[in-house]
Amino acid sequence: MEITIFFKMKILTFDIEEWFHCDFISDSSTWKNYETRIYEANDKILQALENKKIKATFFILGWIAEKYPEVVKKIHASGHEIACHSYIHELVHRMNPDSFRRDTEVAMKLIEDIIGEKIITYRAPAFSITEKTPWAFEILSELGIEYDCSVLPSSSHDYGGFPSFGECLPSVIKVNGCYIKEFPMNTVHLLGKEIIFSGGGFFRLFPYFLIRKWAEETKYVVSYFHPRDFDYEQPMLSQLPLKRKFKSYVGLKSSYPKLLKWLNDFELMSVGEASQKINWAEAKKISL
Ligand SMILES: [Zn+2]
Repeated sequence: MEITIFFKMKILTFDIEEWFHCDFISDSSTWKNYETRIYEANDKILQALENKKIKATFFILGWIAEKYPEVVKKIHASGHEIACHSYIHELVHRMNPDSFRRDTEVAMKLIEDIIGEKIITYRAPAFSITEKTPWAFEILSELGIEYDCSVLPSSSHDYGGFPSFGECLPSVIKVNGCYIKEFPMNTVHLLGKEIIFSGGGFFRLFPYFLIRKWAEETKYVVSYFHPRDFDYEQPMLSQLPLKRKFKSYVGLKSSYPKLLKWLNDFELMSVGEASQKINWAEAKKISL
């Protein structure tokens, strides 16, 4: 693989879901009881990107597309790449092949009907495609997905983890004659653990100079954020375990200024733009 392909490759993605989707415990039938907060936080993101003329990939939760189609329309009208983040935000390794296929099909149809385009990019909730669920890649490929961003090449994560993936670089996954181009999540080694610094709780927790240093030292970085990461007035879910609570709410007040610095300091691109810069024929092949 030509290593220069990935030099300074910094991808920008957002998972478009509500503030209460940090919870993987509650039943989705209770979601209607929670207040709607998606509009304001999503607008903050779109405005920041518009100011810097940056295009990103937005992974839309099917449930959001169904309930708030105008949110999806607005993102699409702003020229961003629209992708799928499942329908009901369930972890893939808690599903079976049939329920995973149904969930993905429903979500893709909801989103495609809004934007009038085929969806070709997918990310599972909490990077939850693991070595135990290779069938997920096969199903995604059968549904027309070409790019996946659901793999965390590490074992030390709450919900995901794919330790045998090897070096964290875009790779081609082959399962039963199906191919998927994988953009794995990147990590940094810290105190014996592999941690994600370019999104989520650790992006909010660590000081920006450290985040920036890690990003500069890493040739391939996928940044991922949610509207709730920039909504410091969101209610707190009391049912979350303590560790999850900390990771969900730490650093909310300083996270938006951090995002603005991130947008300013790096040349960021969508998954689709990144794919065009990669010589896929030379990329690592992983057979499952
Ligand atoms: Zn999510």
